[in-house]
Amino acid sequence: MKSLPILVYKLGGASVRDPEALRNVLHLLEHRPPHHHLVLVVSAMGKTTNGLEALLRFSDPNDPACQRAWRQVYDFHANIVTTLFPEPELLLRKMDTLLTEALDWLEQRNRLDFDFLYDQVVSLGEQVSTLILADWLELNKIPVAWFDARQLIRTDATWREAKVNWSGTAHLVRRHLAPLFSRPMAPLVLTQGFIGATVEGKTTTLGREGSDYSAAILSYCLEAKGMTIWKDVQGVLNGDPKEFEAPELLPELSYQDAIEMAYFGATVMHPKTLQPLHDACIPLEVKSFVQPNAPGTHVSSRTKSPAKPCYIVKRRQALLTIFQDDFRFATEGLLSEALQLLQEHRVKVHMVQNSALRVELCVEGESHRLDSLAEQAVAKGWNFTMHKPMILITVYQAGDLKQEPKLRGMGQLRMEQRNANTWRLLFEEEV
Ligand code: ASP
Ligand code: MG
Repeated sequence: MKSLPILVYKLGGASVRDPEALRNVLHLLEHRPPHHHLVLVVSAMGKTTNGLEALLRFSDPNDPACQRAWRQVYDFHANIVTTLFPEPELLLRKMDTLLTEALDWLEQRNRLDFDFLYDQVVSLGEQVSTLILADWLELNKIPVAWFDARQLIRTDATWREAKVNWSGTAHLVRRHLAPLFSRPMAPLVLTQGFIGATVEGKTTTLGREGSDYSAAILSYCLEAKGMTIWKDVQGVLNGDPKEFEAPELLPELSYQDAIEMAYFGATVMHPKTLQPLHDACIPLEVKSFVQPNAPGTHVSSRTKSPAKPCYIVKRRQALLTIFQDDFRFATEGLLSEALQLLQEHRVKVHMVQNSALRVELCVEGESHRLDSLAEQAVAKGWNFTMHKPMILITVYQAGDLKQEPKLRGMGQLRMEQRNANTWRLLFEEEV
């Protein structure tokens, strides 16, 4: 017998952020298409990842401020659990044990690489959210098989930005999930987004907002019929509603447009998500969990580019200027050396302008990485300046737009680039 087609749903933090949202998950599941197997890939609840990141600022887990920060994360989940469950005690105990691991890891901080420690602590958010969700589905008589994503997603040991080992992952997914899906009445599969493990079983994470990517990896390995990202917006809009007034829905996008927009910084999906879906021709829907029957955005290979300009904002950028007055090093040497230095520091480059003696780069990276990069640039004898914060605006499908009222009132313009369909502007961010 041929097994049923598989759908993959990705539920982001907002779709599981409070008791109401968890009730809404039941509604989503009730209205799912019949005769499909379903895989649910779930993020940490609400802003939990930020809460866990905050714990990492403390060197001593017994510091009362650290204990308070931990309590906040615990209480946030406990409130959801005590509101929803008539007998919450056992689940609360399991949650406590799991979250206490964060403090145990902090205890060992001095012996550990920070990025490794980060993955061990921050991955607890997804573990707790799926622990709660599994019990919630069971309480509501929805058969569910909970899987630890670390048994499915195999990665290398690039902590905080792990690279997927595709053949290892495909093998694990087949081994663990195929037997389940060969049954017509399989339970739905629930697993964590964002996390994976090395071959030694050490927990890794795929980069912030990486749950979309997890869902795409599983979709690819399962040859899913479709993947849906459930959001708190209608779909992909032509501007972030937090930044621009009344953005409009883009009903259809090609994979190319979607990957370009995600790369430029559209936060509606993680840029790595598109590649596996494109390679396996799996259509992606981006839909509102508040109005699950509304059409949302459909991403596939068959669509035309959006007819309207799309405005994408990336904040927290830095402008680096490297000036070299020694003519011997003029031209490409400086640029390639600068790019290499950025890569070594895991700093991302979004825009480059160079001349014989000068390179200007719009980059993004954590403060400590930028600081150490600056130190090395100075040690190399470069004339180096760094200006931040900057804000990068990309107008995708800009056509022949010249003056843009939406961009009025920004800070001082420091860099600008334009090509056939893209207009990028880097402003000083007013703080
Ligand atoms: N929880 C992770 C984050 O907030 C991953 C995700 O939600 O996609 O970055
Ligand atoms: Mg997200």
